[in-house]
Amino acid sequence: MDKPQNPFAFSVDAKARQPQEYYEGIKQKFAAERDVRLAFRPEGLQQFTSDLTGGLAKYAIDPNAEEFRPRERLTDTVECLFIGGGFSALLTSARLREYGIESIRIVERGADVGGTWYWNRYPGVACDVVAYDYLPLLDEMNYVPTRHFARGDEIYAHCQAIAKKYDLYKLAVFQTTVTSTVWDEDEEMWNIKTDRGDEMKARFVICANGTLSKPKLSKIKGMQSFAGHSFHTSRWDYDYTKPDLSGLADKTVGIIGTGASAVQSIPRLGAAAKALYVFQRTPSSIDIKNDWPTDPEWAAKLEPGWQAKRRARAMAEPVLSTEQKARRAAMTREEKVQRQENANIDAMMRIHGRIDEIVTDPETAASLKPWYMLMCKRPCFDNDYLPVYNRDSVHLVDTKGEGIKEIAEAGPVFDGKVYELDLLIYATGFEVQQTGIYNEIRGKNGIELNDKYKDGIRTVLGIHSHGYPNLFIMGGYQATFRFNLTDVLQTQGDHIAACIDHARRNGHHSMDPTPEIEEWWVQEVIANRGKTTRAADCTPGYYNFEGQFQRRQDGNFNGSYPKYVAHAKDVLSNIEKNFSFTKPPSRT
Ligand code: NDP
Repeated sequence: MDKPQNPFAFSVDAKARQPQEYYEGIKQKFAAERDVRLAFRPEGLQQFTSDLTGGLAKYAIDPNAEEFRPRERLTDTVECLFIGGGFSALLTSARLREYGIESIRIVERGADVGGTWYWNRYPGVACDVVAYDYLPLLDEMNYVPTRHFARGDEIYAHCQAIAKKYDLYKLAVFQTTVTSTVWDEDEEMWNIKTDRGDEMKARFVICANGTLSKPKLSKIKGMQSFAGHSFHTSRWDYDYTKPDLSGLADKTVGIIGTGASAVQSIPRLGAAAKALYVFQRTPSSIDIKNDWPTDPEWAAKLEPGWQAKRRARAMAEPVLSTEQKARRAAMTREEKVQRQENANIDAMMRIHGRIDEIVTDPETAASLKPWYMLMCKRPCFDNDYLPVYNRDSVHLVDTKGEGIKEIAEAGPVFDGKVYELDLLIYATGFEVQQTGIYNEIRGKNGIELNDKYKDGIRTVLGIHSHGYPNLFIMGGYQATFRFNLTDVLQTQGDHIAACIDHARRNGHHSMDPTPEIEEWWVQEVIANRGKTTRAADCTPGYYNFEGQFQRRQDGNFNGSYPKYVAHAKDVLSNIEKNFSFTKPPSRT
């Protein structure tokens, strides 16, 4: 019925459709467009702030919570404590429960579980990864998503259902942000402090605070002087817009950014607002979204364990014919790279072609064309995005790579013109993969994790770090990357739960990876960080650290997802060798 998505797959077997000069010409245009953007933003990652305090504090306020619920401060002890209550915490907790672990606490900034799906409720919010693969624990929950691509509210409700089924609300604390996590060497316990005055203890801590969870804003001159209303896409103010967006019928609205969040909300904004101005710096690639309601007959035929089987299928390496193997063996590395690049360019030009077919104004169509290789930025899928630009009320302000650099009292300024707005929406994204390192984490000898990492990240599988016993990190750097993030989180969650179970069953109080296994993993990450100039060739974005130089060990493990899974299995099967363990400290 449906195929697993793999937008990365550009076959080395693909035949060029055009002469090589054509592809070289397009690559030159890609490079020129990238250089324009790099020249506008030499400050790289520093162009953004996620310090939403002081004058920016309003952008962090939770519009979803009905009230701030008072509660007693906590000073108790739990066995497993999760920082964050999104997919990572939920799917790992389910495994821990299967191992019989009862004492599990989620500490969450939002007023409920759900993480991304708690916060992001902008109009049109949905997941563009196939729901049957993306939603966690479908076998365990005996649930089949209602659509091929689930919408945000269904995913959020699924998160709540998981928390209920696995009884995770009992010990959970919401509207609470962890401020420090410190290892007590005498007690061999983690001490966790929060912004609610809690001083809790936990034997195991799992940093599950998300890969893209903290909203970030572009540092724009004068942004605080804007007199109209404004918010970030992840803090949608439905009091202002009204749930059906009818509050925008007499409003002039602007949106800064054209990434995945903007692409999903712009069609709905365009249909509802009196006028919409889209301030674009770099266009996203927009492909067809093949969505449909789940066929009940297909769903009824699914056998127990169907999701696990899909996941196993998606992991399998492609089976090559003898001819394919022989052809590939005869190719040089350069030839293979060239074939993949040409196939990528063909895909990008197909995306350009669709824009010309759909968007009637040629100037707008030209502005919407992305000039970079597919996957330099997160590809987007939405059938309503391109047609919205045919509305008279929707205006694309193409800043041609420069972006909005100034906001006046009346609205954003570009090219000397002030765009007067009632509402300005920031679709400027999130801090990336700071999970595990964004608050104070002190391990053995009081060393803060960021200090340990000052010469480069050092972990095992992106999960464990030497000197931080019983601490596990999910979704951070040095882990694998996958279009379907749930695959990565499930692999990590299974691994973490198995480690904790091993420690408990064997009477170990704490486990700490050895320096040797950590060094092995750092070298493994370095060795697999790509042999092409692909990341540097890409237009700046969060996939390539906004074009900034990065130490090779400070990114993801690029040695393929199946290899990562195999490595995780190896680490676990040699757990007694790879970790040092302690017995429970005697408490007299
Ligand atoms: P992104 O970081 O992807 O996009 C931010 C946007 O803001 C970019 O278009 C950027 O332009 C633009 N921008 C930043 N500063 C300025 C400025 N000063 N002037 C004009 N434009 C500016 O954030 P999103 O929230 O859209 O998406 C974040 C991620 O969340 C996605 O990549 C995806 O991983 C995830 N997501 C997934 C969805 C799904 O369906 N699975 C749906 C929504 C989000 P530029 O490109 O030039 O940097």
